[in-house]
Amino acid sequence: MCGIIGYLGGREATPILMESLKRLEYRGYDSAGVAVLELPKNGAATRTSVTKSEAKVDTLIEKLNANMPTGKLGIGHTRWATHGKPTYINAHPHTDCHGKIFVVHNGIIENFAELKAELKAEGHEFPSETDTEVVPHLIEKYYKGDFLAAVRAALNRIQGAYALAMFSSDDPELLVGARLNAPLVVGLGDDEYYVASDITAIIPYTKRVLVLGEGEVAAVTPLGAEVSTLDGVTVKPKIVHVDWDVTQAQKGGFAHFMLKEIHETDEAIANAMRGRLTDDGLVAFREFEASEEELKKLQEVVLLGMGTSLHAAMIGEHVLEDWVGIPARAMDASEFRYRRPTFGEHTLSVVITQSGETADTLVALHQARERGALTVAVTNVIASSAARDSDGAIYLHAGPEIGVASTKTFNSHLISLYLLAMRLAQANGRISLERRRELVEALRALPDQVRTLLGRDKEILALAHKYSQYRNFMYAGRGLGYPVALEGALKLKEISYVHAEGTSGGELKHGPIALLDEQFPVVAICTASSTKEKMVSNVHEIVARQAPVLALVSEGDSSLNGVATDIFEMPAVEEASSAILNTVMLQLFAYHVATKLGQDVDQPRNLAKSVTVE
Ligand code: GLU
Repeated sequence: MCGIIGYLGGREATPILMESLKRLEYRGYDSAGVAVLELPKNGAATRTSVTKSEAKVDTLIEKLNANMPTGKLGIGHTRWATHGKPTYINAHPHTDCHGKIFVVHNGIIENFAELKAELKAEGHEFPSETDTEVVPHLIEKYYKGDFLAAVRAALNRIQGAYALAMFSSDDPELLVGARLNAPLVVGLGDDEYYVASDITAIIPYTKRVLVLGEGEVAAVTPLGAEVSTLDGVTVKPKIVHVDWDVTQAQKGGFAHFMLKEIHETDEAIANAMRGRLTDDGLVAFREFEASEEELKKLQEVVLLGMGTSLHAAMIGEHVLEDWVGIPARAMDASEFRYRRPTFGEHTLSVVITQSGETADTLVALHQARERGALTVAVTNVIASSAARDSDGAIYLHAGPEIGVASTKTFNSHLISLYLLAMRLAQANGRISLERRRELVEALRALPDQVRTLLGRDKEILALAHKYSQYRNFMYAGRGLGYPVALEGALKLKEISYVHAEGTSGGELKHGPIALLDEQFPVVAICTASSTKEKMVSNVHEIVARQAPVLALVSEGDSSLNGVATDIFEMPAVEEASSAILNTVMLQLFAYHVATKLGQDVDQPRNLAKSVTVE
């Protein structure tokens, strides 16, 4: 998520921070700020100048141009809020009680509430609502004259994900970087050093990059960078030479935002689970705290969304019925708003919107509220309209999504809905401890499974190129595979403009099969599920009509060998996990078809990212 930059060297830090933040803009952000350590000439004490903007980097740059701090050590940040609204106070850098320690952070401090309570009890004051602010205060708590030791002691108490750049005005020649579950690199220039969340930020200055490992701390001084673990054990630095040029680096090395965002799926889904799920499968959402009593009384769930979010809602519907055992309906919000809804106070209305600003979904949300339903928004954007207008929010924490066609956030929505289903099943006692543990194991394995699948991109590209000759596609699936088929078809049509439709395997014979011939391929979702055998029969019916079939099957399943034209083996996993993995495969497939056809995948024609009109 978002951008970090730090500088220590012989030049003025501020212009470098400004340029780097500008280059990090492509990641999306809501506010920005810098802190520069000023060394007064007359020998007076050092002072740190902090400049923040609750809007664009350009506004920050204007402020800095009007009042340019001078100094050779500084840090900068573009924030993408996860905890606390995008306001001036919440913008980074954050500091301790004495304004000596300055910190910028990307990620989420999972145990910040406990740490904040502890520090408050000890007299620390917290002006912001962020999770980040506990970091400078914890460092302050442990500071006994050695900044690096205090950083290590503080980080040993922190759980979650962080990339951090930090300094203390008591140590004017020390810049510290640290990371865990979030990227951070150290750029090595000629007698100058950079700490950055992304190579993009520093590529014009240096191509020698020290890649920090998980749980490692880099202490940067004018003499060089030293790397150690949180326990203080020295680590041999891993230095790489980056041969990117500046334009390539704008998308972090990926050809398109969409591809970059698909490749962020593992991180996004890990973030959606972070701090919410215990080993025993108990779920807690910080911003959705309905009482056990209230949740127990629920008689139905209505899930509202549009486009990709509607497909997520359809999967949610299925899983909620299965795990919670109460009726669930997924509805197109634009239709729902003009119907006469028949629900009331024992309904949970779940609104699904990446941006939190989808016009149709917001109106449907307001109607649900008027009827007394309990409402919760599942959204990626903190303090968005959907989050503000609902009783609670489940934030995706997926980081910004810039590609118009949603990719990683679809899967973050699924994880969030799975957790919601587990939460409701926990309240009504429907799900056994054993089953919960199985689900926890399956969900926690997902980020690695996604990473392995992303590593098979070349195989998917080869299939996509083979199939890119066709002008019509059918996607078919059953169970969770049905909404996945709809989403696969939507992705293909959105970005390649090739006609694609999704159908349930059962519905095929009732009409869509009439379209099929040797020029009309079918992508069939046949991974392990309770209806897999039925899908296998459907594939036989399809093949009998001479349509080419690309089948997704679970590893080791040979039932379609010699039947389907092409077979892509997926990991053999829970059906809920399959929905996510199959979607990643279909997103990559659509991406490669579209790029083969020369389409502008990041900004497909006629579409907009956040649909704020009816
Ligand atoms: N969790 C931090 C916040 O909300 C950092 C967010 C980011 O990665 O920009 O301020």
